[in-house]
Amino acid sequence: MPARIIDGRALADDICRRIRHDAEALAARGRRPCLAGVLVGDDPGSHMYAASQAGQAERVGITHRLIHLPETTTAEGLGAALATLNADSTVSGVLLYQPLPPSLSPPQQRGAVGSPFSALIAPEKDVEGLHPMNLGRLAQGQPALAPCTAAAAMACLRSTGVDLAGCEAVVIGRSPIVGRPLAMLLLVEHATVTLCHTRTRDLAAHSRRADVLMAAAGKPGVIGREHVREDAIVIDVGTHRVSVDDGRGGRRTRTIGDVRYDEVAEVAGWITPVPGGVGPVTVAMLLSNVVAAASQTGSSSPHR
Ligand code: NAD
Repeated sequence: MPARIIDGRALADDICRRIRHDAEALAARGRRPCLAGVLVGDDPGSHMYAASQAGQAERVGITHRLIHLPETTTAEGLGAALATLNADSTVSGVLLYQPLPPSLSPPQQRGAVGSPFSALIAPEKDVEGLHPMNLGRLAQGQPALAPCTAAAAMACLRSTGVDLAGCEAVVIGRSPIVGRPLAMLLLVEHATVTLCHTRTRDLAAHSRRADVLMAAAGKPGVIGREHVREDAIVIDVGTHRVSVDDGRGGRRTRTIGDVRYDEVAEVAGWITPVPGGVGPVTVAMLLSNVVAAASQTGSSSPHR
């Protein structure tokens, strides 16, 4: 039997309905959630992303404030802008749009998470879940604002209704913003977790044991049928724009995941498509973190 599809768009709509309800309840108590986005310079992608995020936030009752700083902003200037937002009680969550201009982007250190400026955002307003304090709390099994993509993969998984306690969960990818926090969130659900990466010997030997397989390798189509146990839940975090044959002698771009969808869907029990799986839920989890920050619950998952 082909896999059941986890519809990320429908799930995101459902989560957004609950966010809207919570946002209105907070607004009624005089605490309408507000997301402040800090954008330095004129990267067109960041401007488009900020505009789209503003629309999505407003639709669920969250105010969006854009702080646009010039390309010439210094590290001190950016630090001061973040400090002002940290101290502003009307701001619930702060997000720093990437990429930053080259002058504010030191060479990435091994294992570094996001930009070093992310650590200047107050942990309780860190709605992307990238502050060392939030990642540390997650590692300790304490409530924290979790990185949005990892939280979205978990929301997709939970939507199946399958009991996760004691299940074999295999995460492929150990990046600080996806793979590692995902492993921590799976532990919270009492799964037995294996974390695979580029140095893993015989990936398929691990992944074929998985009741839950989380693919976050960032490699298009790296996971095939040979990696998947029958009836497994397969959550594909990967997103890749690739050029494919358009069937008329030309090329077109297509979005695919880490998982070879067609062949894996024949054996898996559940699967997320790409696009339309984890992606739309990631945006919803960011908004969910804003509401969590506004209500100061400190909880990473009030909308599960
Ligand atoms: P990354 O490159 O930082 O990390 C990839 C990890 O996968 C590394 O730990 C590496 O060791 C491991 N890996 C790579 N190839 C492997 C292989 N063949 N076998 C085993 N392990 C392997 O990537 P990332 O930032 O964690 O992102 C992962 C994927 O998630 C990317 O495709 C990215 O585009 C996607 N992503 C999606 C969303 C979303 O909203 N859906 C958001 C963020 C990232």
